Amino acid sequence: MPIEKTVIGSFPKSKSPIEVALKEVVELQLYYGVDVLSDGEQRCNMIQYFDQLPGTEKAGNGLRIAGKIEPIKPEKLDEFYKIKDYQTIRSLLKKLGKENTKAKISITGPMTLGTICASTDINSTAAHYNLDEEETLFSDFSNALLPIVERALDIGAYVQIDEPLLSTGQVPVKIAKKILKDFTAKIPKGAIKEEKVSCHVCGSIKSVENLYEELLNLDIPILSFGFSGEAEKENLDIVSKPTLEKHRKKLGVGFISNIIVEDDDTIINRYRRIEKLVGKENIRYLHPDCGFGLTRPEKVKLILEKMKKIGDSIN
Ligand SMILES: [Zn+2]
Repeated sequence: MPIEKTVIGSFPKSKSPIEVALKEVVELQLYYGVDVLSDGEQRCNMIQYFDQLPGTEKAGNGLRIAGKIEPIKPEKLDEFYKIKDYQTIRSLLKKLGKENTKAKISITGPMTLGTICASTDINSTAAHYNLDEEETLFSDFSNALLPIVERALDIGAYVQIDEPLLSTGQVPVKIAKKILKDFTAKIPKGAIKEEKVSCHVCGSIKSVENLYEELLNLDIPILSFGFSGEAEKENLDIVSKPTLEKHRKKLGVGFISNIIVEDDDTIINRYRRIEKLVGKENIRYLHPDCGFGLTRPEKVKLILEKMKKIGDSIN
């Protein structure tokens, strides 16, 4: 299978109404040859999408605990914006005669959501959860997210679990190991086998002891890391062909900056170095290091143009 090009998730927010914004973001990705499309997170940030989970509410730019976290009722799952926007994207693609184009739903993981809630408002968190037993908060998020993952897979979406905070040191690795192991073990096996699920972790995986090993142990076929930024460069020291193959993992490779427009040689040399470390057969996706939420729209286009040109020359 050729290496596919994808994006991590966010795009600069369009000022247009949501339906138009989704159309713009789809057309932009198609124009630049992105193989697995994202909804571009046009409604809000990756945390606040989850205020639709019972037990949470928006607070500032984050999310606060307002009760016990519970799964969305099954009959309401299709109203969850990530699911709803995916359906809109599918019908847009159909209208464009591109119904075979792949698209993904990115789902912020339980460790990141729990950690953000606790740091957004520790008092409201403490009012509903015993902070000495942090695990319950994370496992409640995990249980609430699972039906969304299952629904996403049912309607044909690819799923990307985002755990940006894992590499920041804010998240206890010991708890993350257990929660994520349980969470990923419950994802339908067919989807794992078909490589429809990935996990994206931002920053330097190397900077947190054992994090790479714990990620390798998850029941997820594809791990996605950045390699381009200052912190992300450290990931070159940890990935290897033997570790990936031993755990039957493929890599999503952030081979191009999501922030600055780099020159072609820098990008090509970085890709060659990664390919040498892990083997081309173990690279599943090429993508920018991370999302485009804070990148200026003109730059996004230039970065996507380079991703297309260089990505296509590799295959
Ligand atoms: Zn990221």
